[in-house]
This record gives sequence, C-alpha cells and structure tokens, in this order.
Amino acid sequence: MTFELKTVLARRQFLASASLAAAAAWLAPRDAFAEEDHLVVDALKEAATAKVRVQTLRRNISVLLGAGGNIAVLSGPDGKLLVDAEIVTSRPNVTEALASINADPIKQLINTHWHFDHTGGNDWVHEGGASILAHENTRKHLMKDTRVEGWHYMFPAAPAGAIPSSVFKEEHTLQVNGATLALKHYSPAHTDSDISVHFVEADIFHTGDTFWNRNYPFIDYSTGGSIDGQIRAAEANIAKVTDKTIVIPGHGAVGGKADLMLFRDVLVEIREKVATLKKQGKTLGEVVAAKPSTRTDEQWGQSFMNPSRFLALVYQGV
Ligand SMILES: [Zn+2]
Repeated sequence: MTFELKTVLARRQFLASASLAAAAAWLAPRDAFAEEDHLVVDALKEAATAKVRVQTLRRNISVLLGAGGNIAVLSGPDGKLLVDAEIVTSRPNVTEALASINADPIKQLINTHWHFDHTGGNDWVHEGGASILAHENTRKHLMKDTRVEGWHYMFPAAPAGAIPSSVFKEEHTLQVNGATLALKHYSPAHTDSDISVHFVEADIFHTGDTFWNRNYPFIDYSTGGSIDGQIRAAEANIAKVTDKTIVIPGHGAVGGKADLMLFRDVLVEIREKVATLKKQGKTLGEVVAAKPSTRTDEQWGQSFMNPSRFLALVYQGV
C-alpha cells in the first residue's frame, strides 16, 4: 500500500468515525485526488471546534464570526434572518451563538454564494423551518456535483433540504423585522453566484466573499471567478458604501469603506506585479520566488490562503 493511499484511507476512516461523519456525509470526498490539497477536509475539521463569536453591530443586527464565512443575524418578531450558514460541522457552536442573542427561531436564510463554508448549514437550518433565498447560480451549483479545481475537491450535490427554495437573477428586495434588505448580484467575481446584502436602514453591507478583510481571497475559477472579476467587485463595493456603512466581509473582521479600499489596492498591486512577471515569461514558481506580495504576506497570508496559493490564483487569471 502506498503512503498516499494509506493517508487517504486514514482520512476516510476519520470522516467515517467522528460524529462529524453524519453532518459531513454529503461532503465526503469521492476520489483520492480530491484530498491532495487538504483545504476542505481541514476546514471541516477545524470548524467542528472553532469558537463562534457574536458581535453586535447596529439596530437589531449582529454578526457571528467563526471558522467559515461570517453570518449576519437580523432579529425581530418575524424570527431570525441569517445571511450565510457557515460550515456544516460548526452547527453546535453556531446554534449556541444564536441562542446567546435570543431564543427566536431561524425563519429565513440568504446565501451570499454557493460555497460550502457559506451554505454548510443550509440543510439543518431548513430542517428547523427556515426558507432559503439565493442567486439562481447558487441553486444551480448546489444541485449537482461541482468540482472546484482550486481546492482539488469534488462537492457532491447537496441534499434536497439545502437547496434554496427561492432564487433571483439581478436584484431582489425584501422586508423583514422592520428592515429593508436590498440584494444584488455581482458580475462574476469570486464565483458567478455572488450577491451583496444591504440592510438599508441600519446601513450594514454584507459583501460575501467579494471582500476578505486583511486576508488574501480564494478565487473560484471553476464556477466563474477570476482575479479581474474580484477586482471589479471590490470597485463596486467601494462605490456602494459611505464612510458610515458597516461592512461585513465574507472572511475577516467587520470593517468599513477604508478596508474595502485597502483590499482593492492590494489586489490591484499584486495583480499588476504578477502580470508583468508572467509577460516576461516567468513560470509560476519563478513568480512565487520573486515575492511580489511580500508587503502584505505576513498579515494577509496567514489563514485560509497562504501567499503561494493566492499567487497561483492571480497567475491563472492574468
Ligand atoms: Zn467563497
């Protein structure tokens, strides 16, 4: 038995044995190569124990900060509305964090895009009685097996309960708990399913993964993302907010307009440097060795995306 195969079997046993198995069954990898890069498996494992912190923002809106995508929570007489639902294995810690806000049930869920670290809770939230709203491409990707090359991972079709019950194409507005929510689709950026959610009266803007606060973003070329799309979305976000807007990123701390501008500037700077090197005929290895992102690597490359992974995604798109 080769080392690789043993490793794969060990991970299969891990997935099959832990209590995580039931929750993550639909995410169990289907092919050996899927685990070459452990990002998804590691994220499932990490989320099972990661703390979920509650931060109160404005009016009746809070945010849950954990291992997966940030969750916005709008409370009130209509029950809770969530924007995003984290990684499936974070269920116990997300449940506890929600209960610490109040005992109201979750009645509605909005997905900012289709990725597993934002839709992982869809099934259990729906089972508890919530409806799910998303962009039509989120439903499309969740309904069938979808491979993400950047993660070397094949996501099996999600269970029926996890599929959004309503979808929209460009824009959608709803009234919940006395708040107006304005939803807008981005042109393909991080994926082709990205939407923003603006809580109009509170002026709180959830960007999904079009904004990672002081973290290099993952970019999903397999479902429509690109570095140039990610930069266009960063520009759109800056144009959308004012200095008073509270901005909830997909990942990282809650921020504001200045943080959106910094994110745009960092992406543009690294994109230009990588494009110049690629035009000179440099290979990806040579580009990584040239350290074009050295100014921000220490702060931005510590969590999900390390500098060389991020540079590979930029290189692919220029
Ligand atoms: Zn994402």
